Amino acid sequence: MHVLVIGSGLAGINAALLASEFADVTLLSKSELQDTNTQRAQGGIAAAITALDDPRLHAEDTIRAGAGLCDPVAVRALTAEGANAIERLLKLGVNFDRDRDGELSLATEGAHSTPRVLHAGGDQTGVHIQSALMRRLAEANVDVRTGVAVTDLTIEAGRCVGATTDGRETILADAVILATGGAGALYRTTTNPANATGDGVALAFRAGAVVRDPEFVQFHPTALVSEDSAFLISEALRGEGAVLLNSDGDRFMADVHPDAELAPRSVVAQAMTETMRRDDSEHVLLDVSHLDSDFLRERFPGVYRGALQRGHDITAGPIPVAPAAHYHMGGIYTDIDGRTTVQGLFAAGECASTGAHGANRVASNSLLEAVVFSSRAVESVRSNANQADIPEGEIGTLRLNPICGAPSWSSLRRTMNDLVGISRTDRDLRNAIEHFGEWSERGGDQADPSLTLAALTARLIAEAALQRTETRGSHLRLDYPDASPAWQRHSLWQLARE
Ligand SMILES: Cc1cc2nc3c(=O)[nH]c(=O)nc-3n(C[C@H](O)[C@H](O)[C@H](O)COP(=O)(O)OP(=O)(O)OC[C@H]3O[C@@H](n4cnc5c(N)ncnc54)[C@H](O)[C@@H]3O)c2cc1C
Repeated sequence: MHVLVIGSGLAGINAALLASEFADVTLLSKSELQDTNTQRAQGGIAAAITALDDPRLHAEDTIRAGAGLCDPVAVRALTAEGANAIERLLKLGVNFDRDRDGELSLATEGAHSTPRVLHAGGDQTGVHIQSALMRRLAEANVDVRTGVAVTDLTIEAGRCVGATTDGRETILADAVILATGGAGALYRTTTNPANATGDGVALAFRAGAVVRDPEFVQFHPTALVSEDSAFLISEALRGEGAVLLNSDGDRFMADVHPDAELAPRSVVAQAMTETMRRDDSEHVLLDVSHLDSDFLRERFPGVYRGALQRGHDITAGPIPVAPAAHYHMGGIYTDIDGRTTVQGLFAAGECASTGAHGANRVASNSLLEAVVFSSRAVESVRSNANQADIPEGEIGTLRLNPICGAPSWSSLRRTMNDLVGISRTDRDLRNAIEHFGEWSERGGDQADPSLTLAALTARLIAEAALQRTETRGSHLRLDYPDASPAWQRHSLWQLARE
């Protein structure tokens, strides 16, 4: 059996390692192996692993933040397998931080009702996970190819039988696992690396798979924004007591939500956007300087150094922060066994929509999701499972004729930032879709297949955001400020059959 894994983050490498126990495996990554969202993770990975915690409590916290759209079955699978996932990462060599007694150290983060976030190297969790996985991958019997972008999936008689690369090579496989990560880099301001352009969603959609809830994009509230880059200031800082201030130096979150700075991300990001608008400012302030400087340097070495490199000292005073595109809750529909609706095609990690995050992801649940569901996807491959059933509900369709495109990366990213960003309106979304239409008519930039894929995922996000005439979770419609009971359902999208 030959298994093709696309992506070298936590979901992809974990899947490749497990699949190599029973199959020949090829792993493709369009950049360097470590150029992933996984590598950038700071805060940690959530799991109910102590006697004081319980997977059911973890599930309740997850469902509460998911704003009515979590799939309870997926959430149960996620949280119940937390302890196993941590055991697997320990076995792979991830050195999670421990307290003086040698017990795994647990932090508190927004929306978690108890400390349950494991971290490594202080706020360097992603670096530690990525490098442990890469060490294992180097020892494993896996054909690893970097700098190779998949631009199309190969479908024969309705079954996925391989993929085509930007070098126009077709790699045939008995099973293809998409682990292509997020879509933050469709936006100008993002915490993601530039390669996080939602390719997997577009690849699967073009292959006929159902895509679910693409409109739900999480904007991380606290990014230190400079020019075109956004450096993440981990939520864990707020967990330790950092406060958000307006331009007069006053706290504003306590008036917005009972959990103040630890309210769900969408609530914090939206309150910050409103405060920035009122103050006519590009940012608000985050202050953690009342905590001990040595503690801050030890607990948050990455944030401390990263901010310092950008001219800000977190131990000395408030720093300017603004929301940035961060995490894609929507994605390729999968059941809890990682199966898409196309036979032979599996998906795991951020590119998948398992239903575990609903309309709003809880901090530190995505690394857990990547481990749990990539492992389950490999079990499906091992047992030669069929495709998932088409989920129930009305399915929106989109035509790809003419082919979706964009004149340049910068125009695509500007359009997404300005018109499909954190606060959305009917007018802006229609404008964005009009741009996509005009670009398509002009043929887009078909010389760049990656840009074509990105434009398709962007268009799916905009179309779904236009359809959802309500505010829910991370999806804020200024013209529909309340949640609508009629919209307490997923949005489902599939390629229109000509
Ligand atoms: C700054 C930051 C901090 C975060 N902190 C946390 C945290 O503390 N806790 C938490 O749970 N989550 C966190 N997240 C989210 C979490 O890191 C990601 O959701 C998770 O790592 C995704 O893993 P993945 O394996 O699905 O994708 P990734 O790790 O992003 O890997 C995607 C891979 O797919 C490859 N790829 C993409 N398209 C193609 C293509 N067309 N062809 C070939 N290869 C392709 C890429 O090159 C890459 O190798 C954070 C994210 C960011 C950006």
